[in-house]
Amino acid sequence: MAEPRTLVDGFARQITYLRLSVTDRCDLRCTYCMPERMQFLPRAEVLTLEELYALARGFMARGVRRIRLTGGEPLVRRDMIDLVRALGRHVGGELDEVTLTTNATQLAEHAAALADAGVRRINISLDTLDREVFHALSRRDALGDVLAGIDAARAAGLAVKINTVALRGVNEGEIGTLMRWAHGQGFALTLIETMPLGEVEHARIDRFLPLTEVRQKLEQDYTLAPSTHRTGGPARYFDVAETGGQLGLISPLTENFCAGCNRMRVTATGQLYPCLGGGERVDLRAALRSDDPDGQLEAALDRAVRIKPERHHFRIDGDHTDPAQPRHMSVTGG
Ligand code: SAM
Ligand code: SF4
Repeated sequence: MAEPRTLVDGFARQITYLRLSVTDRCDLRCTYCMPERMQFLPRAEVLTLEELYALARGFMARGVRRIRLTGGEPLVRRDMIDLVRALGRHVGGELDEVTLTTNATQLAEHAAALADAGVRRINISLDTLDREVFHALSRRDALGDVLAGIDAARAAGLAVKINTVALRGVNEGEIGTLMRWAHGQGFALTLIETMPLGEVEHARIDRFLPLTEVRQKLEQDYTLAPSTHRTGGPARYFDVAETGGQLGLISPLTENFCAGCNRMRVTATGQLYPCLGGGERVDLRAALRSDDPDGQLEAALDRAVRIKPERHHFRIDGDHTDPAQPRHMSVTGG
């Protein structure tokens, strides 16, 4: 088989990882992610299952080896499991991995099917273990469903990683508890700084909690040893002596990680954003719906690597109160 013509950008970074949003819709309304009355995209603009698969194949042909399905909430899309099955057939061949990021509200129903379809690992977003805090933060009383989803994932044999956005005045007092809980269940925990993407009802700075501060606080009670573990992603990892678990820190604001970026993101309408924090965009839907989808997709991907910027320019401080990008994370795909 011929070697794929790889996607290498102007800063010598090879793109091997695709985050593919299958919907911008969601059954939660996390306050840091979207406003209460979020305007979702018209369904007609969203790619069909066949288009999503064709697009994924186009990336695979260019050396992408890992695909993460995301959104919005990927599990609210009814035919999503069919896409997972189709992609799962490539795992062990062109793909090393198919995975997803989910809020887990509907995971109890889907965990076994995902495992059968070839998913081995899953990222679950959970910012609190307190039912009332969860309700206030996500605007839905759904912590029980999420915990049932997590149990189902474990029962299905999926490796679980918990992602937690660190938020001032919301979960900052609970991070040690979350870490002990996650590690006690055998799950890794990754903390993330809130990013200025899209308008929400509060000023980002009010909830921004730098992970430098979180780490200092954790180190009063725990021994965090820098780990050699690397995923090619933005997280830095620590082994926590007291829990025996792993802690990841993703600090886009306080520690730039763009030099090692290996990924691109595509929205549910087929818009490729080479950088989460940038406005550069390539329309893959137009390519897919053209007379020469294969050729146009190739050309579009070439263009995307040409315009991928060196780094994002996120800032959250008193002087920078506007979002870095008008797109919410749920649109670009987290
Ligand atoms: N709905 C799924 C979920 O919540 O896991 C997948 C999509 S969600 C947009 C992906 C991740 O982005 C979640 O872990 C969420 O907490 C995170 N996220 C959303 N908005 C964010 C923001 N403004 N800054 C940092 N992380 C954000
Ligand atoms: Fe939905 Fe995920 Fe955004 Fe929360 S973070 S509103 S679960 S897309």
